[in-house]
Amino acid sequence: MNYLILDIPEGPASAFNATFSESPESLGFFENELHVTSNVDGKFSLWREREILMFSGDFSTTVNLQCCRCLVLVEQPLHNAMELRCFPTSDPLVDLSPTGEVFPDDTVYSYLGDSVNLKPIIREQVVLSVPPYIYCRPDCKGLCVKCGQDLNIDLCACFTIQTDPRFEKLESLKRRLG
Ligand SMILES: [Zn+2]
Ligand SMILES: [Zn+2]
Repeated sequence: MNYLILDIPEGPASAFNATFSESPESLGFFENELHVTSNVDGKFSLWREREILMFSGDFSTTVNLQCCRCLVLVEQPLHNAMELRCFPTSDPLVDLSPTGEVFPDDTVYSYLGDSVNLKPIIREQVVLSVPPYIYCRPDCKGLCVKCGQDLNIDLCACFTIQTDPRFEKLESLKRRLG
């Protein structure tokens, strides 16, 4: 997904349109970081406003994420639109526009030299689209904080004590007396 800057047409009317289907490996995803379980498929339009690249598209894929309550793995579909700009820079570490009026954010990228590689950009967009909290189901009961039992499967002994406030009071009374 490398494009020569001068090959990219000027103006949205003459934008270059393409589809892509990249394997997780080709985008540099490895299981221990973010487990992407299917190809990242999408489409985009690419054009230039002088030396600024305009990138408009979307992607979809699936990732394996842990339920934030019970830690079970959940296959989560991801789908996101991308409206990005890419500024030229002489320094690969600096993400500011040449005029300084645009500050770097999730939608501003830079390219170095006479070509741009879209893979790292798409990779980052996939990472950014991962929701912070995932539930295996809306009413997931989670794990027992004491013994780690998955409460979706079965209740544990500590759970029955915890749920009865009278026992809880008795327990703390016993602890104080003991
Ligand atoms: Zn869960
Ligand atoms: Zn327990």
